[in-house]
Amino acid sequence: PDLVFEKDTIGRHFSYAFYSRKLSNGEFVDRKWLVYHKGANKVYCFCCKLFKSKLSKSMLASDGLNDWKRLSARLKDHGNSVEHLTNMNTWNEVRLRLSKNQTIDDDMQREIAKEKKHWRQVLVRIVSTVKFLQKILWLSMDQMRNCIKIIMVIFWARLK
Ligand SMILES: [Zn+2]
Repeated sequence: PDLVFEKDTIGRHFSYAFYSRKLSNGEFVDRKWLVYHKGANKVYCFCCKLFKSKLSKSMLASDGLNDWKRLSARLKDHGNSVEHLTNMNTWNEVRLRLSKNQTIDDDMQREIAKEKKHWRQVLVRIVSTVKFLQKILWLSMDQMRNCIKIIMVIFWARLK
């Protein structure tokens, strides 16, 4: 079912149209990074929220945006910003690593068997990190699962 978007005082609101962007040749591409949070009635860039640096000033990576009037321009600027492109690169690298390395889970299980105690501690830390992320990012169960995978891959890569 389609969401009914909350309106501001002058009737402006978010719309599905923001999820895609029109290229100069007339084609449309998805803004896969854009997330609308109904409870907050704000939009975020999940990628920048996940990978942002301390220097980040982007609202899309922190408190969220609800400036519907200028949203189109703000999203366009954000999509072209160095910060966003860097974070998207990080995200794509992690995703690529995940999709290429199907054996990670096997390897991880072997590692866990080898160093059960150590890993149990690591896993506890991962789970609490993800729980924290879920709180601030309002992740769905699927996103949570992916998030756990990504964090495990990062841990795994560091330990290698
Ligand atoms: Zn971004």
